[in-house]
Amino acid sequence: MQNNPHTTLVTAEAPIAADTHGGRAKCLQRLVRLDLPVPRTVALSFDAVQRIAKGELPDITAIVSQFPEGALLCVRPSSEDPDWGGPGAVLNVGMNDKRLEALSDRLGKDAAYAVNTRFVQSYSVDVARLDPDMFDDVEGEGCQGLTDSLRAYEAEMEEPFPTDPAEQLAAVLKSMARAWDGTSARLLRQAKGAPADAGLGLVVQEMALGLGHGQCGSGVLQLVNSDTGLPQITGRYLSQSQGRDALEGDAAALYLGRDPRGPSLEELAPEAFEALKTHAALMRVKLREEMQVEFAIENGELYILDGVRVARSSQAAVRIAVQLAEDKIISRAEALMRVQPRTLSELLHRQVDPGAERNVIGRGIAASPGAATGQIVFTAADAQASASRGDPCILVRRETSPEDIRGMHAAHAVLTERGGITSHAAVIGRGIGLPCVVGASNLRFISSKKQLVTKDGKVFNAGDVITVDGTRGEVLAGAPKMREAALDESFQKLMEWSTEFCDIGIRANADTPADAQTARNFNAQGIGLCRTEHMFFEPGRLTVMREMIFAETSEDRRAVLERLLPMQKADFKQLFDIMKGQPVCIRLFDPPLHEFLPTDRAGQRVLADALDLPLSDVTRRIDAMSEYNPMLGLRGVRLGVTVPEIYEMQARAIFEATVEATETGAAVVPEIMIPLVSAKREVELVKSSIDAVAATVRTEMDASFDYKLGVMVETPRAALRAAEIAPNCAFLSFGTNDLTQMAYGLSRDDAGRFMSDYVQQGVFPEDPFHVLDTDGVGELLKLGAERGRSAQEGITLSICGEHGGNPESISFCRDAGFDYVSCSPFRVPVARLAAAQLAIADNIE
Ligand code: PEP
Ligand code: MG
Repeated sequence: MQNNPHTTLVTAEAPIAADTHGGRAKCLQRLVRLDLPVPRTVALSFDAVQRIAKGELPDITAIVSQFPEGALLCVRPSSEDPDWGGPGAVLNVGMNDKRLEALSDRLGKDAAYAVNTRFVQSYSVDVARLDPDMFDDVEGEGCQGLTDSLRAYEAEMEEPFPTDPAEQLAAVLKSMARAWDGTSARLLRQAKGAPADAGLGLVVQEMALGLGHGQCGSGVLQLVNSDTGLPQITGRYLSQSQGRDALEGDAAALYLGRDPRGPSLEELAPEAFEALKTHAALMRVKLREEMQVEFAIENGELYILDGVRVARSSQAAVRIAVQLAEDKIISRAEALMRVQPRTLSELLHRQVDPGAERNVIGRGIAASPGAATGQIVFTAADAQASASRGDPCILVRRETSPEDIRGMHAAHAVLTERGGITSHAAVIGRGIGLPCVVGASNLRFISSKKQLVTKDGKVFNAGDVITVDGTRGEVLAGAPKMREAALDESFQKLMEWSTEFCDIGIRANADTPADAQTARNFNAQGIGLCRTEHMFFEPGRLTVMREMIFAETSEDRRAVLERLLPMQKADFKQLFDIMKGQPVCIRLFDPPLHEFLPTDRAGQRVLADALDLPLSDVTRRIDAMSEYNPMLGLRGVRLGVTVPEIYEMQARAIFEATVEATETGAAVVPEIMIPLVSAKREVELVKSSIDAVAATVRTEMDASFDYKLGVMVETPRAALRAAEIAPNCAFLSFGTNDLTQMAYGLSRDDAGRFMSDYVQQGVFPEDPFHVLDTDGVGELLKLGAERGRSAQEGITLSICGEHGGNPESISFCRDAGFDYVSCSPFRVPVARLAAAQLAIADNIE
């Protein structure tokens, strides 16, 4: 048996590995090597179990003969990664009349009958797959309970209950092997990341009974709290019990260490408790992990039956990894590798408590993580009114537009009917850390009546309380219990360590001083994208902006822009001050101008008043400006070329702010980015006008400063023609939101409506606005990068679309030799950890 690679006695030297026998078998071997009191165990390999599933049994007698005569056995699953699960354990295999008699002498009659009854019932349900309800009528305990249980089995199966231990064991092995192949088991483990051909091993272990004379029982112990990750002995012990009974809420279950809430194992069996603690501490060090120890006590003697990774919340996951590294049990690199980037994103925001009841009323795209509860409001103005009263609110809109920004800032979360992962609500939500669900098309938004109607007709009115869970993309009725964000010391430490390993720059997309501050707090290495248009929606500015749009001549336009200049300059100065000399990349004005104009009559009337124009003039101008396809219309550099005064004003504001910020703080070298470029000539025109503004400001202010001009590559043509565009640029930054939209010919604001169908039917592997399409859009990135570099070696390359924060896109950008990625400030920690993990993985290979 020892040399049989398929049914192997677990000894220190046996040939057992996690990828042949599973994680549990390997863990038990490690415990044996540590000389812990582990009951005798035989491990069955993946191969052996696969053959069992096909009906080819191993030599069962040889397995049974490994155990003392009369021993009872338990069988437990051993998948490669214990998180992939497996069929439930079956205990007490081998019970029959003969053993009942022997056990009665050893343990007393009651305990012996209890073991036997338990076995008959679990065998019937887990092995013979009978309905558990059939034992509902079994009333008595002791002999009566057993007789009734056997009778129920025999009535259903029309055959006697098997009494031969080898026959019982064979049936148990067969049923567990087959359960692994069941469809739902397969889907369940694949959802946890198991490959389609993941194997199952089994371990057959001698039972430590936990029942009988003297101190007997079973329990589990761990050295940390699963919620917080802080050191704390947790678990329960139940006298006269088996398996995980102690955890099933039995009032008689004891605490482990002394506890004011009730009696403890420490008081009941101090020696066993001490030994248990010592074993657990040794396991932590030697297995290099926080382990939950499953143990049994038989007549005062302690047995260690199993060890599994402690289950952990996101916060605990970070704390445990950091503490293991601090205790020099694992390296910092390993601690970083042990935390999923997704886990960090959960820590950065309030979340619905995992234990809370969820009354889901609608679903959409999880556009910005975190959760918030509040009263429904249907307009940005109502959101602001709510905020001024101090009432938390959820802004519910068909879709949001730049006009809603202030309302979004006032709201605690945003829910939209339309839109995808790069729609306005999603981008702003992520930028300011606001939970957001978009594209909730199974909810009906009746704005006129201020109602939200669920699929089954339930109506929610303005003022009703709902919760938006932007992490899961769900809308819940009411106010479930929340869990606060947890940016504790361990988080900070993990971030510091990530920085040590990270070999690609991580910048933040930040439009406001608050965004910039968040970016700094998360140690972003600069701002990779400042979308300047949002600044024009500030109160007091919108009207001036509208005046500018309505100006008839270039001169009039310049005059109005003069009034916007000091405001923009103040914006930039603030950003430069906060970023303290770190690079700040400012994108020149991008959206179509008509986005700034009121769409409803009332708004147009107010505008006519403000501009002292007849209403008909205002509506005519607005109509004339409307476009069939605004995202492909007069926006970005096209405005820069046709209405050059706006870019000139912005360039002047940037340069004047540069001079002033440099005078009072660190030297600033601003980066100016031109959006939506598709032709070299566009860049030439804008460059010469900005160079001229720079020269004027230098003379006027008698100051010298440098600046970098770059292009946002977000049209396929700009990527293809990068070689002729690059010579005019210091940098190329790929705007993967628009680039994805244009590569697919798929509107980023409308894709949400059918994206889930497309993904479900396998047309797209993922939403390409969410996960970078490395095949198509990626090819454009590669071409653009290569062609740009061939024309100008050393040109700075980056991405600043929403993909910037995704581990997959970071991997792509590292491989393509990009200098940095830029993402929403709240994604900076996730991006940094992902980048560090990629660098560490590269080093390991
Ligand atoms: C982009 O298109 O990728 C981008 C970053 O710009 P925006 O989302 O503002 O269009
Ligand atoms: Mg864009």
